[in-house]
Amino acid sequence: MTKKIAIYPGSFDPITNGHIDLIKRASRLFDEVIIGITQNSKKTAFMSIDERISLSSEILKEIDNVKVLSFGTLLVDFAQAQNAQVILRGLRAVSDFEYEFQLSGMNKHLNANIETLFMTPAEQYANISSSLVREILSLGGDVSHFVPKAVETLLKTRL
Ligand code: ADP
Repeated sequence: MTKKIAIYPGSFDPITNGHIDLIKRASRLFDEVIIGITQNSKKTAFMSIDERISLSSEILKEIDNVKVLSFGTLLVDFAQAQNAQVILRGLRAVSDFEYEFQLSGMNKHLNANIETLFMTPAEQYANISSSLVREILSLGGDVSHFVPKAVETLLKTRL
């Protein structure tokens, strides 16, 4: 039987408890979940790609069927190269919808064989975003409820 593989792409700058909640849920639905960290994000990267990979790998190492890779190609090409059938994206609020709808439409146009699936996090994670975590930290706020300890520690050394 074909392995069911999902790609969860994003900047993960940094990985948050919201991302992790989604990854844990997805790991129970798919044979393999590949975290695809984008190399060429429009956003200005806070952490280097290597830092994001090693931090995410360390945090997710206990989940056997999850692996972390980075990619600099079209997402659908990366998904195809990894034999993934599904692109996974998170929806936190209605405000995420418009962009995500557009993105999934473009990806379907580029490769109709790959489906985009949306998942929502547990309620307590719905307001977490990487950009807010960076902002709160830079202003000296407490982010311990939003990110794992390892992320908080590394980010603090960066400020
Ligand atoms: P991108 O730069 O591609 O938006 P992110 O790392 O910010 O990358 O997010 C990757 C994916 O995870 C996106 O689909 C985003 O909507 C989703 N996501 C981000 N934060 C959360 C959260 N707290 N709960 C659920 N999904 C989330």
